[in-house]
Amino acid sequence: MESIDLRQAIIQDISGFYSNSQQVSVLRLDLIHPIISGNKWFKLRYYLDEALAHGKTKLLTFGGAWSNHIVATAAAAALQGWSSTGLIRGEASSTPSPTLVTAASLGMEFIYIDRSRYRDHLVPAAADAGSGYLIPEGGSGPLGVDGASTIWELIPAGYDHICCVCGTGTMLAGLAKGAPDGVQVTGISVLKNNLSLDASVAALIPLRHNWDIIHSLHNGGYARYTAAQIQFMNELFTATHIPTDIVYTGKLFQAIHLLIQAGHFPKGKKILLIHSGGLQGNQSLKKGELVF
Ligand SMILES: *Cc1c(COP(=O)(O)O)cnc(C)c1O
Repeated sequence: MESIDLRQAIIQDISGFYSNSQQVSVLRLDLIHPIISGNKWFKLRYYLDEALAHGKTKLLTFGGAWSNHIVATAAAAALQGWSSTGLIRGEASSTPSPTLVTAASLGMEFIYIDRSRYRDHLVPAAADAGSGYLIPEGGSGPLGVDGASTIWELIPAGYDHICCVCGTGTMLAGLAKGAPDGVQVTGISVLKNNLSLDASVAALIPLRHNWDIIHSLHNGGYARYTAAQIQFMNELFTATHIPTDIVYTGKLFQAIHLLIQAGHFPKGKKILLIHSGGLQGNQSLKKGELVF
């Protein structure tokens, strides 16, 4: 498998599609690797270093059947020549998701945990936790934050607003932690009414006040989407050749478009959207819904 190539993460100007008065660009983290795309590698990188430092050659982690983090962890383990175990929420299916099919092809083994017990995040004895290195679900936690803050290595000076999408808020916390003075980091939450997200981000970066989260542009909640979102994703692709996904980046790009049209960002400010990858999630859609 090819390795991560950060030089592929170009910055693309999309001002023409977004605004006639504001500079809007995208950092294309979706291009750094065909499988470990986007923010997941940044959130994993220090966990991988820690596993190495502990002499572990097996990764264990939690996730759902469509989790970008599961497939990224499987690929990261395969790249290192390590093994991996996915602790998967729910029951095994006779028609596993494309996500799990890909993870299995990368050598990941699965242990299924029923939904009621999954919440406790206890590693089942069968997973033999002591033999491996356990990464928190989604690559969250302090090392995930510090890894995400290294996204700044790819961001040139001069942007006033950095915009990203939030699940756990780990990427947002990392971006805010690493941001130079005067830069505001705005997150679009994909969850409905997940109002405790602000408190969990604040707990990760108590000294930073350069961030905010918008909770009203989730299009119905996690993994839900509207016809208008699909239409927007298709129009965005036709105009810019940027593919987005239904769960995360499609919502980000549509939300920022709405905010810019509504005059949310002061005139003259330079905006950078983080394309955090995750395109494999679109495999849950019917063929033909998206033009890409
Ligand atoms: C996981 C994921 C996110 C969410 O990142 P958090 O750090 O959990 O907020 C955003 N975008 C994509 C494409 C993802 O796969």
